[in-house]
Amino acid sequence: MARRSRRAKLLLPLGLLILVGLTVWRLVLTGPERAPYEFGGMTMGTTYSVKIDAPLTAAERAAIADTIDGRLTEVDRLMSTYDSASELSRFNRHASTEPFVVSPPVLEVFAIARAVSERSGGAFDVTVAPLVDAWGFGPAGRPSAAPTEAQLSSLRTRMGYRLVRADRAAGTLVKENPNTVLDLSAVAKGYGVDRVADALLTLGIGSFLVEVGGELRAGGRKRDGTAWRVGIERPDTAMRSVYRALDLIDEAIATSGDYRNFYEYDGMQYAHIIDPRTGRPIPYTGASVTVIDPRAAVADAWATALSVLGPDEGYDLAERELVAALFVIPSDDGFTSKGTTRFRQRHHGAPVNESR
Ligand code: AMP
Ligand code: MG
Repeated sequence: MARRSRRAKLLLPLGLLILVGLTVWRLVLTGPERAPYEFGGMTMGTTYSVKIDAPLTAAERAAIADTIDGRLTEVDRLMSTYDSASELSRFNRHASTEPFVVSPPVLEVFAIARAVSERSGGAFDVTVAPLVDAWGFGPAGRPSAAPTEAQLSSLRTRMGYRLVRADRAAGTLVKENPNTVLDLSAVAKGYGVDRVADALLTLGIGSFLVEVGGELRAGGRKRDGTAWRVGIERPDTAMRSVYRALDLIDEAIATSGDYRNFYEYDGMQYAHIIDPRTGRPIPYTGASVTVIDPRAAVADAWATALSVLGPDEGYDLAERELVAALFVIPSDDGFTSKGTTRFRQRHHGAPVNESR
């Protein structure tokens, strides 16, 4: 009897301990998850990924994923040139000089594009759309032959960034030439990144890394106090590897180049970027340009503009316009790079295999 009560005396606290342990364990399981939240998907014909370094419950995670998906779907639905029902496609079919009402995001992207067009002397030009199609990297796919000089000069009469203007008060875009059409692809991915970043900030989330098709924006620092480390790719078509690592805090990075998206015509290699001065794609050189700016849309537009101008003219312009840019150029023994003063001042990253 006495032995049994001693056992009961021992079992009772043990049972209680197990009960408390299980309750705590359940709370841990259903409470906020400490590990960073990482997820992604497809948007704008490419992939996106998001990393959030904050403790979040399963319900919070689901709500955030929903919000982000909504923002990206909206940008795609408005600005895709691949979707004939998008607002941009409808504007492009509006062959008239009458004002056309567009939604605020389209006006915002247009304003960013316009500013970079002006500052880059027209190297950035969202009216290159007919040439994008003629050279075979638009929705219609590859043509059977390169466009002739006559075709090019006829298409170029519809081109020029000044041929479309925004009336911000009225919320409209107005064509000077009824046949002018727009392609916002060189800035829309960056804009998508900004929309997601702004949505996260509104939700009170300050520590994140958002990426759409290679354009990135970092919010704050990670919880351990370190910056978000990202890699600039080596502009190598044969393999994917990091050329240089960069630490980002509250800033965006965009890379443009001829090395990933190029094709061959008559034995020549061309990039998917048009030089508005010639109406032709920029020749393939195996180089890249990376731009850093607080806004991903601005970095995206500048990266394309500086790709058009190349590492000499582009570098000088970036210096004059105080753009933080890094040009990575093929050299005899691999790659070499040159960063503008702004780039060198702001960047806290360490070089990785700088000369290879
Ligand atoms: P990105 O990958 O940001 O450099 O953008 C390249 C895309 O922008 C191309 O696939 C074209 O749709 C479009 N594009 C090509 N040339 C230009 C240009 N000079 N200015 C603006 N957009 C361009
Ligand atoms: Mg771009």
